Amino acid sequence: MAATQRPDLTQASAADLAGSMAAGEVSAREVVDAHLERIAVVDGVDAQGPVWSAKTAGRLDADEPHAFLAVTAEAARDHADDIDRRRAAGEHLGPLAGVPLALKDVLTMRGAPTTCGSRMLEGWIPPYDATVTRKLREADLVVLGKTNMDEFAMGSSTENSAFGDTRNPWDLDRVPGGSSGGSAAAVAGMLAPLAIGTDTGGSIRQPAALTGLVGAKPTYGTVSRYGLVAFASSLDQAGPFARTVGDAVALQTAIQAHDPRDSTSVPDVVPDLGLHLQDGVAGLKIGVVRELQGEGFEPGVEAVFQASLERLTALGAEIVEVSLPTAPVGLAAYYLIAPSEASSNLARFDGVRYGLRVDAPTAEEMNAATRAAGFGAEVKRRIMIGTHALSSGYYDAYYLQASKIRTLIANDFRAAFDQVDVLVSPTSPTVAFNLGAKADDPLAMYLNDVATVPASLAGIPALSLPAGLAEAPGAPGSALPVGLQIMAPLLRDDLMYRVAWAFEQATGFDPRPSGPRAIHLDGEVSP
Ligand code: GLN
Repeated sequence: MAATQRPDLTQASAADLAGSMAAGEVSAREVVDAHLERIAVVDGVDAQGPVWSAKTAGRLDADEPHAFLAVTAEAARDHADDIDRRRAAGEHLGPLAGVPLALKDVLTMRGAPTTCGSRMLEGWIPPYDATVTRKLREADLVVLGKTNMDEFAMGSSTENSAFGDTRNPWDLDRVPGGSSGGSAAAVAGMLAPLAIGTDTGGSIRQPAALTGLVGAKPTYGTVSRYGLVAFASSLDQAGPFARTVGDAVALQTAIQAHDPRDSTSVPDVVPDLGLHLQDGVAGLKIGVVRELQGEGFEPGVEAVFQASLERLTALGAEIVEVSLPTAPVGLAAYYLIAPSEASSNLARFDGVRYGLRVDAPTAEEMNAATRAAGFGAEVKRRIMIGTHALSSGYYDAYYLQASKIRTLIANDFRAAFDQVDVLVSPTSPTVAFNLGAKADDPLAMYLNDVATVPASLAGIPALSLPAGLAEAPGAPGSALPVGLQIMAPLLRDDLMYRVAWAFEQATGFDPRPSGPRAIHLDGEVSP
């Protein structure tokens, strides 16, 4: 099987693939087949049947990223054939027509399993498409399958999935970040040129940082949440993973739109993300957030961040230090608000309406037994924290206080954007850590999100893009990706991408994983 691999197709950017298909050099079917083949071999999936199943139980192979939970092979091939037919007939196709992509398993797709990484939804086949899924289809992007994730998107390492860990293509003994770790591993491991993730407190940006990708959380409300299984509704937002800024722009453009089916969808006209993409950063003021550096950030991460600031200065930007005084308590506020919303949202998994049911003599016992068996430890922890924070007598002390902090953080950002055009920080305080290193320490795990949650609470757009490589503590000679976070004012996703594009041009980061335990990229796939 290895002999037929097409690294030329699986390592190409979405833009290059789309160009080759438009020029008739390669068909959508060939592009899809090349990716399906690589998924089958690299991810070790059982390539039988219309929906290929990934290994989801027992000991997983330590040399496989385990990016996918299900591969919708037949639907992908049919879609690709249909695109080729329509192209041959001279039909107008979208700019990314025929490009394959991976979808986080928290978004519904008609006829394909949606588990959210949970036993609770094992075997559930949604009868409808999420708006994001529909938009992807309308843009003629081909969904390859559903990717692994922390259960109900709660986590920062993808170790909270009920179906096994995902591994980082740069070092298969390390985590890919989370909760969208499967989507990140799919793109970093060249199993797909693009993927959709969701970001509630950093779940696109942090895995993008840890796997050397571009990952963006759009302005809250610009991408529909219809069909995105809710974790914390006031924060959840879907967005793109890609290996280049240009590809991320194209994918976000494809999915953003007002949607009457989502009551928080913004009616505003979203800015054209490509219009000023190549205008550069000369003359822009870039603010460095004083509170999002120093203590808790690894020296290697700080060194890459400082070098990034120098690069931006060399490109003509003016770097100024800015304070977000309330940012340090953002994490505490987030870990009350998100569990509070989760405790309410997850009440729907009651053994009656969806997925798992554990029978018992009374409805109450059935409900309790189902939830005890269906939810993992982190989800139960969040339901308990959230229920407590919302209960009468504690609401004022916890949920209400956290909501006030949220307002203060939004105000801090507003004041900062009076002084500067965009803000920057490291995306994650650390590079990718070893599997198991933080799995038993929830507070250590929560600290991964210290730099990403402020933008989530304020609803502003933020992305991570590769800034360089750094040595992991305790692993001399290692070289792992470090992400630069760029945050912009509400609805100024265009400005965020403009800075990212200029930075990417000057950085020349190679997204192909390297290192002794990196996933191989040529025909010989097993490391
Ligand atoms: N890691 C954060 C959490 O566990 C963020 C998750 C997310 O963005 N979905 O809540």
